[in-house]
Amino acid sequence: MEFLSELTGCFSTPAAGNPTVAMVEAAYRHHGLKYRYINCEVAQGALADAVLGARAMGWRGFNLSIPHKIAVIDHLDGLGASAEIIGAVNCVWRNRDRLIGENTDGKGFVDALNGVAAIAGVRAVVLGAGGAARAIAVEMALAGASEVTIVNRTAGKGEELAALLTARTPARGAFQPWQEPLRVPDGTDIVINATSIGLYSDGGVPALDFNSVDPVTLVADVIVNPRDTPFLSRARARGCKTINGHGMLVNQAIAGVAFWTGVTVDGAVMRAKLAEIFG
Ligand code: NDP
Repeated sequence: MEFLSELTGCFSTPAAGNPTVAMVEAAYRHHGLKYRYINCEVAQGALADAVLGARAMGWRGFNLSIPHKIAVIDHLDGLGASAEIIGAVNCVWRNRDRLIGENTDGKGFVDALNGVAAIAGVRAVVLGAGGAARAIAVEMALAGASEVTIVNRTAGKGEELAALLTARTPARGAFQPWQEPLRVPDGTDIVINATSIGLYSDGGVPALDFNSVDPVTLVADVIVNPRDTPFLSRARARGCKTINGHGMLVNQAIAGVAFWTGVTVDGAVMRAKLAEIFG
């Protein structure tokens, strides 16, 4: 008999609303992995202690959410290639006694396009320049998108991300100011809402002029709750194919669990748990 579990979890504040714990624990149970995942409320000034605690207890790894994705870098021993370019970490894993930071958010988004749309040579428009937008834009560029246009309310952040894409990836980065109604450039293949507009708490819709969107364009949203945002319904009314934020959420969790356990877990188990939670 042995009563010791390997520990993983998430450090954030507020921590209570993050559904990843339910998905990951369902996958651990399904695969008979002796691992636990714990949502931890970690205040801004407590991150250093939390990481030290995880080291002391031999945690296999942990996720980071708001507000720790950038600050955690100072407490790690190394970074994966895309995390280094993105400048943010949402997943840490232990390699012997070294803590390595990765960014699985953008990879999760790119994996969600698998079987839905090709990425090679596409022209993408990303709304937003925050953590999710940076991760998606960089991973889309590294996965073969030819051009990524960033549209952001705060121009400086958008310009900086566009310049980063041009300098550090094979894609061309461009910036378009956030002027309403937003018109997407001709020839856009995919439009991604990577802002927090549309979250259940605000109910807003990015002010896209859907007359500027060709119906062959794929429209994606990173918002998880609600599962189907008004932005996506408007895109479907225009005739566009859409994808919601759940694929990205599941795929980033699969990638994290693979870093921690070496096992690629069954995404269907996580999707079923999300469906149960969101109805
Ligand atoms: P950040 O706070 O880092 O970025 C928010 C972005 O939204 C910024 O670009 C901000 O613009 C923009 N924004 C917010 N409000 C407005 C507004 N009223 N008008 C115009 N722009 C606005 O957040 P994250 O990038 O971390 O998260 C963004 C969303 O992505 C959240 O809803 C989060 O839940 C979701 N997410 C989903 C994941 C998934 O797996 N599906 C994974 C990670 C995040 P500005 O720069 O001008 O402030």
